[in-house]
Amino acid sequence: MVTIAKEKTAEEISEELLEKEIEKELVETREQRIEREKEEEKERSILSWVPKTKLGKEVKERKIKNIDDILSSGRKILEEQIVDSLLNLKSDLLSIGQSKGKFGGGKRRAWKQTQRKTKQKNVPTFSTMAVVGDENGHIGVSMGSAKETLPARDKAIRKAKLNIIKIIRGCASFDCACSEPHSVPFKVEGKSGSVRVILIPAPQGTGLVVANELKKILKLAGIKDVYSKTFGYQRTTFNLVQACMDALKKTNTENRKQ
Ligand SMILES: [Zn+2]
Repeated sequence: MVTIAKEKTAEEISEELLEKEIEKELVETREQRIEREKEEEKERSILSWVPKTKLGKEVKERKIKNIDDILSSGRKILEEQIVDSLLNLKSDLLSIGQSKGKFGGGKRRAWKQTQRKTKQKNVPTFSTMAVVGDENGHIGVSMGSAKETLPARDKAIRKAKLNIIKIIRGCASFDCACSEPHSVPFKVEGKSGSVRVILIPAPQGTGLVVANELKKILKLAGIKDVYSKTFGYQRTTFNLVQACMDALKKTNTENRKQ
């Protein structure tokens, strides 16, 4: 066997390497590729970022390494790259709109479509609500609107990054004695419009007992187990989400002071 290995020419070895590489590329699925490309683009945008604000310069020069320092100092974040370079964020869209027309319509959709009428035509506007989080206690939500869907999404994600808050997680359920931050530390209540949301600590393994749209938020915030109660007109996703964010804000006493 050893002799065969020795007999291999350089050409054969290089061919083998090539084959392995091709195999690797095939193993990488489309989703993984998109994920990797996104990551590369993010890195590039951070590298080519020229900060305009004082805070941005401090972050770029690595004077500030922890986003919590910024959040607790109460300084306003005006550049999304600040958040991007300090946190590894994931994003999701919340269904605030409904589809129109055929097949009954009224289905939940991420884009809310509205129209402005002019003399010549109707001008549609798309708005959406994005949530960003690092699954480790940082979460931000915002609306964005534009003439087309994708710019609206980008705007919403950018604004959500600027709106980022720190939440405190914990385990305070009476029948769970672990010390991992998998739930809310105590009962919190949030309100927006007519909607009230109460988040209650739950033992490990409970899962998220909340409305579907709120699941996306809590998951990105890094909360795994929670019970909830909601009151009011919950079909207004906007208010439901704002109430949930209000409740999450109250887990952090620093937020309460502001
Ligand atoms: Zn626990």
